[in-house]
Amino acid sequence: MDTTAVRNTFKEKFGAEGILYFSPGRVNLIGEHTDYNGGCVLPGAIDKGILAEIKPNGTDKVRAYSLDLQDYAEFGLNEEDKPKASWAHYIFGVCREMQKRGAKLSGFDTVFSGDVPLGAGLSSSAALESTFGFALNEIYNCGFDKKELVLIGQKTEHNYCGVNCGIMDQFASIFGKEGNLIRLDCSTMEYEYVPFHPQGYKVVLVDSVTKHELVDSPYNKRRQSCERAAAAIAVNHPQVKLLGDADLEMLEEVKGKISEEDYMRATYAIQENQRLVDTCEALKKGDYETVGKNIYATHHGMSKLYEVSTIELDFLNDIAKECGVTGSRIMGGGFGGCTINLVPEDKYDHFIETAVAKFKEKFGKEPKIYPVKISDGARRLN
Ligand code: ADP
Ligand code: MG
Repeated sequence: MDTTAVRNTFKEKFGAEGILYFSPGRVNLIGEHTDYNGGCVLPGAIDKGILAEIKPNGTDKVRAYSLDLQDYAEFGLNEEDKPKASWAHYIFGVCREMQKRGAKLSGFDTVFSGDVPLGAGLSSSAALESTFGFALNEIYNCGFDKKELVLIGQKTEHNYCGVNCGIMDQFASIFGKEGNLIRLDCSTMEYEYVPFHPQGYKVVLVDSVTKHELVDSPYNKRRQSCERAAAAIAVNHPQVKLLGDADLEMLEEVKGKISEEDYMRATYAIQENQRLVDTCEALKKGDYETVGKNIYATHHGMSKLYEVSTIELDFLNDIAKECGVTGSRIMGGGFGGCTINLVPEDKYDHFIETAVAKFKEKFGKEPKIYPVKISDGARRLN
C-alpha cells in the first residue's frame, strides 16, 4: 500500500509524524458454514488492508480522519462519547473494548486509508479493528496477546457496530502469515498454519456485485436443519454433538427419520468438514489440482445441497469451469458477494476477460475483479 497519502495528510492535519500500522482483510479458501457445525475454516490474510498513522495527542480526545471517506470525527473515550459516523464506531469500539479489559488509553490523532473493498466479503471491518487494536496495544503498552486482540475486534462488531460475527475475520487479520493459510477451529481458537504456495496459479475474487434481500432467515434455518440431523444421529451415536463429529454413514442410518431438506443440508455440512481436512492434506503435498477439485465441490454443495447460491454466482462458477480455472466457488455464507478462484497463470487473462464480458452481457453490470496474495497479518510499518 502507498503510505504517501496517509503520511502527507497526517502532517497537514496534525503537523507531526506518527507511527504507521497496517492490518489486512482476508479470504477463506474452503470451509463454509462449518463453524457452527463443529468444523474448521481455512482463511488467509491478503495484501489489501487498512493503513493508519497514529500519535497520542496529550488530550482525552481522539481526532480521526478517514482519508477514503474524507470525513473527520472527534470523540472522547467514555461509553457516552460514541461518535455519529459509522466508520468511527469501529475505532471507538476498539478503544472501549480495550479499556473494558483494563487498558489505559488517552487521546490520539489518526489518519487512515484502505484498499479492501467495503462490504464485498473481504472483511474491511476486521482490517480496521485489527489495525487499531494492534496499534493501540503497542503504543499504550497494554500487553494483550494476539487472541485477546481478536476478541477485542469481534466484541467491537457485537457491541458497537451491531454485527453478530464470529472470530474468523479478526483471527486471519491478526494471525495472518505470508505463504500460509490458517486452519482454525472457531469455537476453541485452536489453529494451525497450512502452507500455501500456489506457484503457477493466481488467486482472484470475482465480485458478483449482487446482494439478495433475504425475506426469511435462511442462515438460522440452515443451522436448525443441521442441529436436527445431528440430534437424530446422536440417538444411536451419543458421541455426536455436532455434524462435525459425524460421517456420511451415520447420516444414512437416519435418512428416513429426518426430512429430505435436513438430509441435504446435513450431507453438505458433513462433506464440507471432510473436504477441509482433505484440502489441508493436499496443500501440505502441494497438490493444487485436488485443492481445486474440492473448491468446485464446495460450490456444488453450497448451490445444490445447502442452496445458498445465486444465479449470478452459479453463472460465474460455470464460466470458471469453461475457462479451465482449477477451482472456483462462492466465498462467504452465500446469497451474493464474490467467488474465489484458483487460476492457472496462463489462463488468467482469458478467464477475467470472459467473465467480465459474459457477466455484463447477461446481467447488465460489470463484476469487480480483485487479485489477492496471501500475506502477513497486523504489523507496524515504521
Ligand atoms: P466488510 O465485509 O468489508 O467487512 P462491513 O459492512 O462489515 O463490510 O464493514 C464495512 C464498514 O467498515 C464500512 O461501512 C466503514 O464503516 C468501515 N470501513 C471499512 N473500510 C474503510 C475505509 N477504508 N475507510 C473508512 N471506513 C471503512
Ligand atoms: Mg465486516
